[in-house]
Amino acid sequence: MMEINELKRLVQEAVDYQRERLFAISRWLYENPELGSEEFKASELLTAELERNGFKVDRGILGIPTAFSGSYMGKDKGPRVAVLAEYDALPGVGHGCGHNLIAASAIGSGIAVSKVMDKLKGEVLVVGTPAEEGHGPSAGSKVIMAEKGFWDNMDAVLMLHPSTRWSVGDLALGIWTVKMEFEGRTSHAAASPEKGLNALNAATLAYIATHMLRQEARRDANLVIHGIISEGGLASNIIPDRAVCDFGVRSSDENYLKLMVDKVEKCAEGAALATGTKVKVTKKKLYSSKKVNEPLTELLWKNHVALGVDMADWRESIRGMPMASTDFGDVSQRAPAAASYIKIAEENTPGHSRELADASVTPIGLEAMILGTKALAMTMIDLIADPENIERAKKYFNTH
Ligand SMILES: [Zn+2]
Ligand SMILES: [Zn+2]
Repeated sequence: MMEINELKRLVQEAVDYQRERLFAISRWLYENPELGSEEFKASELLTAELERNGFKVDRGILGIPTAFSGSYMGKDKGPRVAVLAEYDALPGVGHGCGHNLIAASAIGSGIAVSKVMDKLKGEVLVVGTPAEEGHGPSAGSKVIMAEKGFWDNMDAVLMLHPSTRWSVGDLALGIWTVKMEFEGRTSHAAASPEKGLNALNAATLAYIATHMLRQEARRDANLVIHGIISEGGLASNIIPDRAVCDFGVRSSDENYLKLMVDKVEKCAEGAALATGTKVKVTKKKLYSSKKVNEPLTELLWKNHVALGVDMADWRESIRGMPMASTDFGDVSQRAPAAASYIKIAEENTPGHSRELADASVTPIGLEAMILGTKALAMTMIDLIADPENIERAKKYFNTH
């Protein structure tokens, strides 16, 4: 078998060879943004590109119309390594999250690796995962795919995401929503208050009790609780018979998050008991937290460093404060997974903005995508050409 460094050199060349094509894909998506679950043109563009390069493509996988899976087999069975594409835009700001570059990087790295698969045992997959921003029926498609077991037979999953700095290994918060619907009894607020059961009082108590949970929060688990009273009565002279609280609960620790969601539920039950009202609590998991796979993260980081990228040490990034939640978290709970952030704009550029969308088609943004694409392809080579790397990642996954 060819030496790993030689294979890495070949996939870098194969990314450079696609340079203008990847720029064109990024620009086309930028100019033709589609909201989540409606990315029909994007998924057609990307799957056609894969097919032109000899990939076997399945469209609309798992009943998700704009999802796809492209596969390229090596000379024999071996590690199955996937790279993920996202291609949904945001209302008003188009590709303000830069998913056009995620799509280009997945196509570019997958195709680059396919060019050396005749020398390797294994399979490279490019998987199209729609609606990351939560729009439409395919919202959070990676979660839907996780629930259907799609990630369970992957040996490793990689992706990149545009950002305002270079990093690998950042955590992501898991998120649950908790809805509390209180039911009381209306009554004249002045003439006969004793005949009422005040649902707004219950909601207020639950709101305060939930916020009090912060005081006993585990400091290393990055707990975030945010909520509103979304319904609180119709007129001040009527004791409200209905009030609703909507909370989001997030943490970087999956088990702790479940525990805290149960505690939030208890706050609602306690408030109902205190006020004599009834409560219906609906707990819903949106995204899982990200399970960092250290061996995989280190490989991805080393390949960026080898390319000369000035990137913070991955060991610092995993200790950093996680800000966002993503459906990639659910992938990372099912298979060894790692993601990189590529710097396409200055540090103070806000996410989900017109400015970030524009940055995705500047020379700086496009060159960052090319570098990130090379690092993804090189990491896939590390995994497919040296199954010991897969074993290390799997062992870590199974023991953490
Ligand atoms: Zn976003
Ligand atoms: Zn995004």
